[in-house]
Amino acid sequence: MEDAAPLLDAEAVADLVLLDPLTEESLLQTLQERFRRSDIYTYIGNVVISVNPYQSLPIYTPEKVQEYHECNFFAVKPHIYAIADDAYRSLRDRDRDQCILITGESGAGKTEASKLVMSYVAAVSSKGEEVNKVKEQLLQSNPVLEAFGNAKTARNDNSSRFGKYMDVEFDFKGEPLGGVISNYLLEKSRIVRHVKGERNFHIFYQLLAGGSAQLLQQLKLRQDCGHYGYLNQGTSSLPGMDDAANFRAMQDAMKVIGFSPAEVTALLEVTAVVLKLGNVQLSSSFQASGMEACSIAEPRELQEICELIGLDPGTLEQALCSRTVKARNETVLTTLTVPQGYYGRDALAKNIYSRLFDWLVNRINTSIQVKSGEQRKVMGVLDIYGFEIFQDNGFEQFIINYCNEKLQQIFILMTLKEEQEEYVREGIQWTPVEFFDNSIICNLIENSTSGILAMLDEECLRPGVVNEDTFLTKLNQLFATHKHYESKETQNARRVMDTSLPARCFRIHHYAGKVTYNVTGFIEKNNDLLFRDLSQAMWAARHALLRSLFPEGDPQKVSLKLPPTAGFQFKSSVAMLMKNLYSKNPNYIRCIKPNDTKSAMVFTPELVRAQVRYLGLLENVRVRRAGYAFRQLYGPFLQRYKMLSPRTWPRWAGSDREGAEVLLADLAYPKEELAFGHTKIFIRSPRTLFDLERRRQER
Ligand code: ADP
Ligand code: MG
Repeated sequence: MEDAAPLLDAEAVADLVLLDPLTEESLLQTLQERFRRSDIYTYIGNVVISVNPYQSLPIYTPEKVQEYHECNFFAVKPHIYAIADDAYRSLRDRDRDQCILITGESGAGKTEASKLVMSYVAAVSSKGEEVNKVKEQLLQSNPVLEAFGNAKTARNDNSSRFGKYMDVEFDFKGEPLGGVISNYLLEKSRIVRHVKGERNFHIFYQLLAGGSAQLLQQLKLRQDCGHYGYLNQGTSSLPGMDDAANFRAMQDAMKVIGFSPAEVTALLEVTAVVLKLGNVQLSSSFQASGMEACSIAEPRELQEICELIGLDPGTLEQALCSRTVKARNETVLTTLTVPQGYYGRDALAKNIYSRLFDWLVNRINTSIQVKSGEQRKVMGVLDIYGFEIFQDNGFEQFIINYCNEKLQQIFILMTLKEEQEEYVREGIQWTPVEFFDNSIICNLIENSTSGILAMLDEECLRPGVVNEDTFLTKLNQLFATHKHYESKETQNARRVMDTSLPARCFRIHHYAGKVTYNVTGFIEKNNDLLFRDLSQAMWAARHALLRSLFPEGDPQKVSLKLPPTAGFQFKSSVAMLMKNLYSKNPNYIRCIKPNDTKSAMVFTPELVRAQVRYLGLLENVRVRRAGYAFRQLYGPFLQRYKMLSPRTWPRWAGSDREGAEVLLADLAYPKEELAFGHTKIFIRSPRTLFDLERRRQER
């Protein structure tokens, strides 16, 4: 077993709780020095910080799994396996449900981390045939969800474009029984638009590159990506990514999970329809009335789509080019303009795809869900987008940052709760800690009567012409004096001069920093409406899967109630997630991206500094060591330092605790530096620990 010395290497402490002095600078330097030594993992107590190495390191071998299996947390180098092991053992032996929260910005290594945790747990839990099948299914959900939910972006070649939470359920012996996956906010705008250098979702390229000639013919697809409007906006092939091989891996994964061939075909048919919709061209023609209206420019693509889904082409054509409006008990068919027609077409493609993705998650859940009713233990793994500050921030960033604000809130609450519980368990006096409580910001956003999301919903429901300006005006009135809200107007009123805040924007002071949001698009994205004609057309199709995605298209079920807004849905699912997390014992993995070029061994301090702030790491260390920076079980502690007193060296005959007491009494540290818990020794400041270590080395 390795020596514990790295923990106390003053230049590169393995646990930031031991930093002395504790500043942003020293924290950054430590991460950099450790990264230089290829030590990508660092602790803050039992939080792991992981800096993306962008190279494969030899630290995930079966031997490493063995090394960390049932290890003593403090005796081995920091590793994601140590956290996974600790969580798994605590679940199995102490019956405590666990959650593993993985955060960080895009490309920081969250998804890889979640896979490492899952594969570790799979490796150390038992290996019966039935259990292996379950494990395989759980692991194979990744390639399927990644094909449909991941894309190449400027930041990450395999970027998850959705948030994911997976509960893995275990029986009383700690053997996996199954799981449940929840997905959050797929970035569906990517279906119709992506910027240069990025791609649409992997599945389209995989299908075209890896589908057999027969399959493509069946789906009425051409092999050439450049042919498709939704794909030819940027990069099509990716160095280092074998789309065809990934397609086969995805198909194999579906088989393992239990998709029937018919289900796979249906899934791919709907996928093809989305791609082909992007090639339906509209043009303007003049009607008898002299009005300009939109029509289908070239019928072939539309016809093929209709053949795939079993629908009369006339029905789809009408739904794409016109709209039924109900007025005074009369229904009138009004023609759309060409831009309106394209808007509807794109909305349809986005809706089909995002609903298909939800279906996919549900279908996987049907296979992996636990059937037996026995008592279960649960380990949840959350892999979700981190805090985002871009040049332009819109509705998506607002929602994502709201989620991160909630995660920060729960982090503080749970860390404090956990600390307090440990103190109580150990019989040590707890002194309250000062910390920044971000509930004021959460409340600003989510308060159900006067929060920003509620105000947005109110605007969306208002009859007549709605626009974002009235929404912004309302916010400005409501939050004229709110400490965490700003806009041009409130600044003027407060006589603050700031030329950086443009019109049509509001700025929120998040715990991680200030973010300026442009309100353009907020209403449309929150409403997320699909013309009813389009959902009715989809429901009219004979294709069973497609049809099931549009239940509201059933004319019998026309309800006047508007569907819940995107913001409202997100708020509810975040609330549910928080409740779920709060009932579990938390484990944190905080991922950091060291550079913008995906290069190995490059560490850009300014980039890391920003992430250290967004992740709130300094605050994290402060909370962790609010009382005592260091704690350890008496046994290992005495073992390590017993040579420092003639009374405990070479052998101590009494209990470990008495030994530690005797030893520390001989060293004459100030009384307030130490506390003796039931099972652990607590040391207040890192300095004392370093002093112990120095004496030990001088011996
Ligand atoms: P995120 O989910 O945070 O956006 P990913 O987990 O997809 O980021 O990681 C992005 C890329 O970084 C991966 O595709 C991989 O190339 C690299 N990477 C991440 N974690 C590791 C690791 N532990 N070891 C080696 N490479 C990694
Ligand atoms: Mg990811």
